[in-house]
Amino acid sequence: MKWLGETKVTWLGHATVLIQTGKGTNILIDPFIEQNPKYPTDFQLPDQIHYCLLTHGHGDHTADAVTVAARHGATVVAIYELAAYMQAKGASQTIGMNLGGSVRLDDVTATMVEAKHSAGIQDEQGTHYVGVAAGYVLSVADGPVLYHAGDTAVFSDMKLIADLYHPQLAMLPIGGHFTMGPSEAAMAAKLLSPKAILPLHFGTFPPLKGTPEELAKLIGPEVFVVRVEPGRALTSGN
Ligand SMILES: [Zn+2]
Repeated sequence: MKWLGETKVTWLGHATVLIQTGKGTNILIDPFIEQNPKYPTDFQLPDQIHYCLLTHGHGDHTADAVTVAARHGATVVAIYELAAYMQAKGASQTIGMNLGGSVRLDDVTATMVEAKHSAGIQDEQGTHYVGVAAGYVLSVADGPVLYHAGDTAVFSDMKLIADLYHPQLAMLPIGGHFTMGPSEAAMAAKLLSPKAILPLHFGTFPPLKGTPEELAKLIGPEVFVVRVEPGRALTSGN
């Protein structure tokens, strides 16, 4: 994927993705590590993770956020209420933002975009309101535009995301049950017209039945559906 330039994208199972820019900015999205059955156990996270981005409050997207913030010095970026919750739980640096807004994360501009999903967070005290679910568009300076959809159904405003930001890589949930499945993701591909899709949120647990093969069959040859083992980086050379 030549268009990735110096940027490396590593899927770590479920919706966890590590993005490393050529200038050295490390971004981890939705850290689900300890309890993630698909996390590549031999994978070594970089010592420093500059930013940890959260799409919504569910445990399979936030479970290790506070730990990553403490161990790797990461600033936690999330929708305003979720950022405040993470701060209360011990993340010392946070950036709260909201839908439609952008923040500059060194050489990456992160724009928070819509997702269609629920978003409470559960702890010993019950379920808390932590804003709404979101996705991120990451525009790397002199590099690619990456879209992590978070957990979502397909929605027609994905066309707006395409028109505004032109993502080359769309990271989309395809497992079904809690998010869209392959047929909806195929429609998302039409709306987004990326160069490639990195399928997320499938196969982690038995109900998440959608597969990249089904998606690839539905989409046909015009969009490349990435099939990669967790822990193996996507680079300009593959
Ligand atoms: Zn999820």
